[in-house]
Formats: sequence, C-alpha cells, structure tokens
Amino acid sequence: MSTSGKSSSNLFQRLNIRFPWLKIVVTVTLCLIALLDLMRSTISSTRDANTIKIAPMARHVKITSRDLEGKKLVALTFDDGPSSETTPRLLGILEKREVPATFFMLGSKARNNPELVKQVAKEGHEIGSHTMYHQNLIRIAAAAAESDINEAKAVLRDILGKDISLTRTPYGNTNDRIRNFVGTPIILWSVDTLDWKIKTTESIVGITMSQVGDGAVILMHDIHPTSVDAVPTLVDTLRDNGYEFVTVSELAEKKGIKLTPGAIYYNLR
Ligand SMILES: [Zn+2]
Repeated sequence: MSTSGKSSSNLFQRLNIRFPWLKIVVTVTLCLIALLDLMRSTISSTRDANTIKIAPMARHVKITSRDLEGKKLVALTFDDGPSSETTPRLLGILEKREVPATFFMLGSKARNNPELVKQVAKEGHEIGSHTMYHQNLIRIAAAAAESDINEAKAVLRDILGKDISLTRTPYGNTNDRIRNFVGTPIILWSVDTLDWKIKTTESIVGITMSQVGDGAVILMHDIHPTSVDAVPTLVDTLRDNGYEFVTVSELAEKKGIKLTPGAIYYNLR
C-alpha cells in the first residue's frame, strides 16, 4: 500500500515538474464536475417538489372530501374541450376551490390531448363524450351519426382505459334512433349560461343564479378563456347561496336517480 502510495505521489511530483499547468487543469475540471452535480441535484429536487404538489391522489382525496350535508347540489359541466390553451387553467381553479366538474369532451380534441384527458380524470372530475366531431347528429345520415358516437367512445376508452358512461349530444339534439344507439344516458342541461355568446363573468353568473336550483346541471364551455375567468366568481356565488358541487354521476346517486342508457336528463332532482 505504502509503496504504491509513494510511487503515485512520485508520479504526481514528476508530472507537476514536467507539466506545471496540469494541476490547474485538474482543479478546474474537478470544480466543474462538482458544480454540474450540484445543478443536477437542484433541478431534480425542484422536479420532485412539483411532482409532490400535483400528485393526483392528493388532489382526488381533497376534491371528494367536501361536506355535502344540508347543501343544494349542482353539477358544473364543461363542453367542447379539452383545450391545451384553457383547460389546464380551469383545472387549477377547480383544484384550488375543491370543485369536481364533468367534462363532455370531443373525441377529436381528446385524441390530440391524451395527457390532459388523463389529468382531468385523475383530478377527480368526470368525463363524458360529446361525440367525435361535434356534428348535428339529427342532420346527418344515421350511419354517420353512429360512427361519430362510436369513434369518440373508442378514443376515450383508449385514453382512459375504461368506457365512458355519459353522453351529451352536440346542441342537445337527439332522436329516437340516436337514443336507442348511444348506449349511455344522455345528459343535457337545465342552466344554459350562454357563455359562448355573452362572454362576461357578470352575465354568466347572473344567468346561472336566475335559473339554478337543487339538482341543476349547468352548461359551460372550457374552450373560452372568458368562461374560465368566470368560474371563481360563479363557484363563490353559488356557495354563498348554499350550493355545493358534485359530478353528474354523483348528483344522480345523491338524488337516488338511476341513470338509464338512452334516457335524456336535463337536471337531476
Ligand atoms: Zn358542444
């Protein structure tokens, strides 16, 4: 041991004499390695902190732990998404206020945002189909309507790993053939906020408060920034008036309503 230690120290001495700059190069290299290591551990600990912050289970538990005792219940529903532009901000608002919602997604948009679809589900929200391409199903050939419904179901099944159990037909349009074919309950709405048309928080909240009641299903669209803007005030106003939020399926369950495939529901009371 001492022999090899001596010979290696002799080697360094010899190298030091022959290449005096080598010591500086080695020192600088060691410093750089240490610095890179420090940067890497800082980045990974930041990533860990973010992972913990958005842990899906934590959010889910939080959202389902609301006290519904003695509250009037409503289901907030969002159509036509998901949108990478607006849906993530809405999810943040819903998480902060512990509001579960129901998203009627277009298969075409879901296919382009599979991770966002999964995030919506993981955070305790319910997902239903709003068909594949938002066609007016009663104005197109029956076979085309059926394939539009089926394609959306298949896309959502692939992403979520299970069948969706709710459908909202575009424009609320449906007929007997669609009802017989759709295979899920058809959930329409009792409060139309007209958020796609009158894009102010004041209007969205005003219309909702004038039409809402226990068991209401509230129609909004998560593709408009102005609709997302209105959600904090809308949620706070509804809570101030004794309402609490549940998903559509939860609402049916709390009201003792068994949702039937092919049946149309405007509210659940
Ligand atoms: Zn729609």
